[in-house]
Amino acid sequence: MSETKVTEIFGSNVFDDSVMKDRLPKDVYKQVQRTIKDNKKLDAGIADVVANAMKDWAVEKGATHFTHWFQPMTGITAEKHDGFISPTGEGKIMMEFSGKELVQGEPDASSFPSGGLRATFEARGYTAWDPSSYAFIKEGVLCIPTAFCSYNGEALDKKTPLLRSMQAINKQALRVLKLFGNEDVKSVRTTVGPEQEYFLIDKDIYDRRKDLIYSGRTLFGAKPPKGQELEDHYFGVIKPQVQAFMKELNEELWKLGILAKTEHNEVAPAQHELAPIFSTTNIAADHNQLTMELMQKIARKHGMVCLLHEKPFAGVNGSGKHNNWSISTDTGVNLLEPGDTPYENAQFLLFLCAIIKAVDEYQDLLRISVASAGNDHRLGANEAPPAIVSIFTGDELAGILKAIETDTPYGGKEKELMKIGVHILPKFPKDTTDRNRTSPFAFTGNKFEFRMLGSSLSISGPNVVLNTIVAEELKQFADELEGKADFETALSQLIKKTIKEHKRIIFNGNGYDESWVTEADKRGLLNLKSTPECLPYFLHEKNIKLFTEHGVFSKEEMESRYEILMEGYCKVINIEALTMAEMVKKEILPAVSAFSHELADALQTKKAVGADTTYEAAALEHVDKLLADAFYGTHALEDTLEEAAGIEDITKQGTYYHDGVFAAMNKLRESIDELETITSKAYWPYPSYGHLLFGIR
Ligand code: ADP
Ligand code: MG
Repeated sequence: MSETKVTEIFGSNVFDDSVMKDRLPKDVYKQVQRTIKDNKKLDAGIADVVANAMKDWAVEKGATHFTHWFQPMTGITAEKHDGFISPTGEGKIMMEFSGKELVQGEPDASSFPSGGLRATFEARGYTAWDPSSYAFIKEGVLCIPTAFCSYNGEALDKKTPLLRSMQAINKQALRVLKLFGNEDVKSVRTTVGPEQEYFLIDKDIYDRRKDLIYSGRTLFGAKPPKGQELEDHYFGVIKPQVQAFMKELNEELWKLGILAKTEHNEVAPAQHELAPIFSTTNIAADHNQLTMELMQKIARKHGMVCLLHEKPFAGVNGSGKHNNWSISTDTGVNLLEPGDTPYENAQFLLFLCAIIKAVDEYQDLLRISVASAGNDHRLGANEAPPAIVSIFTGDELAGILKAIETDTPYGGKEKELMKIGVHILPKFPKDTTDRNRTSPFAFTGNKFEFRMLGSSLSISGPNVVLNTIVAEELKQFADELEGKADFETALSQLIKKTIKEHKRIIFNGNGYDESWVTEADKRGLLNLKSTPECLPYFLHEKNIKLFTEHGVFSKEEMESRYEILMEGYCKVINIEALTMAEMVKKEILPAVSAFSHELADALQTKKAVGADTTYEAAALEHVDKLLADAFYGTHALEDTLEEAAGIEDITKQGTYYHDGVFAAMNKLRESIDELETITSKAYWPYPSYGHLLFGIR
């Protein structure tokens, strides 16, 4: 595609600022701008004008319907299409879209998870336009990004708390910036660039595996002779079929104004990554949802299926999502970029300390924000960051922090005492800050990279936590520093104290090393290995206090979310277990039994003529033993499912799904995977790992 074509199509399906400027009367345009900036409700008369302009624009582009596009707690996006058509009498129609329809919608929401919120209040929910995220056209439908709430205003979605958390950090960061004399800054926003990993596999091969169809991952599968050990896929040449997919994906993303930037092959065979240029957090969240949706749709058009599951294949790298996060001002300053002057440096250090303290005090929340049944396979597995939360600062920055903490000279030849507000920080080269790929939370020069996210996760949750915990620390800092006569001394003391009290969270070593687990334990850091183990921390008093004080969640919203998350975990394991039992009983056991029968026949026949039956005898014994194991293993699994269903308490149920059901699944898998290695290919009912991973030419 030529350069002009790219610039032409970019954002062509978005009702963005330039379109608004073009199509709205000047005063209306100004009002909309103000609404976006101040987060205010749009005047009804103005909304009508905007809606009409939006409709005209959309109809010109071939749209016939509109939808309030929202992100319920299912983790995927929801839409219900309504036509623009409106009867004018005499069998004629006109295209209509009112301000009321733009600003508020009432989807029948009774089937979305509410964790008990709706039962106690109203059965209905409503959607409200988020004017800070532009409307767009997707497959002939004008999509209005919205927040989704109950009638009493409780959040039923992932966007509402995200917007609230952005307000919280804006408020507290402005207080801190004022202390440094930044009077010109009017607002502060967080920015995110999520790097998205995914697998592409052949559609026909996919269709032959019920486990992939029902659960998004393989529940069985023996190791192929070749995996990722040669590391020949990473950054390797992209195959033509994949290239064609990426080309179409990029074009569709660009049309939606999504800044898709880099694409490459990942470590595992069939694994790829797409990274966008960063944007404001709520927009990045919308865009990431759209990216995942388009990846799945477009892959199908190219005869492939896109797997977003965190661990589609055992023994092969899983897929994550790196959440690159920073804070910047409306004046264009990245607050996590060490500045050029002593004052900017001091300000950077204070923000850095807020983050260090936040991550240390709220390790549990960060861990919870990435918890899911799928991600449990990754966290703590060999390629992923461990379930322990820690911060990587790089050695240079660690050296500076140490010098400040201990009042010792820092630097090369001319060692100097670091005086905050007086000295300029030594420059740390960016590329040395990003060497450690094993850290779950790494400083990468001018932003932090939170690497624990699973590939299918909405980025909203982790960013709600990040924004809110940092807002809390900034609040404490502002409380402490405001009104201090000697600001510089107070600032130095605060920074020093924070480093001293929270340096245990900083770890610059190899996070995959066994010894880190012991070391982290010594430091008193949490190591919450599974979803049911970490989720209960969500409702700890300190966390309820945090979210309610910053107006991000009410206690009721937190309780409902806890229930939704734990229930979600149980449901996923339940589906996987049922799928597994069905596959074993209906396909694997009969197939292997037929193979065993053939072996027995061969054994008989050969014995009768006095031929050597070493193979047949040994294979038959091995197969029959595993066949029995698999049979009893399936029964044991079904027993656990029955037991799980009888547990009332959701916390206990979640724990049992992990310790009982999931454990029984793993046990059963062992005998099945071994069976796959000795059963004749002619009998085995499923495509192998080798077939799945190397199926795309
Ligand atoms: P790489 O990791 O390949 O070196 P970068 O460091 O440039 O690439 O960026 C990785 C991701 O981080 C990209 O999505 C990028 O847009 C994003 N990113 C860069 N700067 C920021 C920032 N200030 N805030 C949020 N994300 C950012
Ligand atoms: Mg990166």
